Amino acid sequence: MKKPELLAPAGDLSRAKTAVRYGADAVYIGGRRFSLRSRASNFTLDDIREACAYAKDFGANIHVTVNMIPHDEDLEGLQEYLRDLEKAGVKAIIAASPAVMAVCRECAPSLEIHCSTQMSVTNTEAVRFLKKNMKIDRVVLARECTMDQIRRITAECGIETEAFIHGGMCVNYSGRCTLSNRMTLRDANRGGCAQSCRWQYSLYAGEDKVSDMLFTMGSKDLCACASLYDMMEAGVSSLKIEGRMKTEFYIASVVSTYRRMIDEVAETGTRPSGERLTYYMHEFARTMNRQSWGGFVQEKADASSLIWHNMSNADVNHDFLAKVVKYQPETGTAWIESRNYFEAGEEAEVLTPGRENRSFAMTFIRNEKGEYQDVSRHPMALLEVPVPFEVGAEDLIRRK
Ligand code: SF4
Repeated sequence: MKKPELLAPAGDLSRAKTAVRYGADAVYIGGRRFSLRSRASNFTLDDIREACAYAKDFGANIHVTVNMIPHDEDLEGLQEYLRDLEKAGVKAIIAASPAVMAVCRECAPSLEIHCSTQMSVTNTEAVRFLKKNMKIDRVVLARECTMDQIRRITAECGIETEAFIHGGMCVNYSGRCTLSNRMTLRDANRGGCAQSCRWQYSLYAGEDKVSDMLFTMGSKDLCACASLYDMMEAGVSSLKIEGRMKTEFYIASVVSTYRRMIDEVAETGTRPSGERLTYYMHEFARTMNRQSWGGFVQEKADASSLIWHNMSNADVNHDFLAKVVKYQPETGTAWIESRNYFEAGEEAEVLTPGRENRSFAMTFIRNEKGEYQDVSRHPMALLEVPVPFEVGAEDLIRRK
């Protein structure tokens, strides 16, 4: 069974490095221009160069989103930008406009062109058209495709396919939504989506308010790990995680879990057992702060796929306790930088790239002055805790 690329998001250089360290085969990032989610993208050209060099050392690649829907005035400087990306060592651009694709083919021919999900490709004819006329190298299929459609397009079109497996969903067709434009004057297709579908609304029938309850229109988040085997069997080339706004902890946790899952399926050639799937689902649930569903690949998009009531279970995740700064084998302790509240005696787990999580008890907490503390209350505090095995700088510690 062919191992697909595991493609992770990153909103800045540090998160791009985290994604690579935790097992992503490729990371997609956005530059300061020409990208959707422009508010998430703070990669300068220097950052992009550094990300490419870092990824190369791990045998990984960087893809850059050039996926805004450009108006004429937005195209200025595009040629130069694409040439710079090519020189920086970027493998592919993710584009949603034929204008961007045409310019890229002409001025930066060694860049692969991946047709963005913003083009809502859901059928074989559209793929053939784009392959023939826009010379695309890969199609990122619309999240609205069913498993059968993904299977058919992958089998029949002779081109790499990429499918979303995890992350946020638009309640409208991705990139075909103007809710944000109309309600906030922020253009979702030029990087400014205000996520208006997730706001809270009162519901009226005529003049009458139906209930005091507030409603949203947002979709549940996607978690299609139960379809991972099917996607690999179908020959999908790349499995994509959504979320360039997501935290380092989220990226490390989700990427390392999919890394293990893909490797396990490729090695055994079999569908994960119910027990393994439950384990993986549990791991993903630890990182989520919204309800999830299996997406169009697994389910029907009926009312149960929406978060329609007041904020649902949205909550902030406090599992990320600290990041390792350095390990001291002579004392069996690690200096860590705290992120959330924890107490002395708590059970914790270390997330180390490339290995199973390891548990330990933080039997004491000591601060920089050598004083013992019962709790860690302040984020970014430098603390010393006992760890009975070697851990690496930048490993993450979470609540067990
Ligand atoms: S408002 Fe909601 S549905 Fe529309 S583009 Fe933004 S996230 Fe997607």
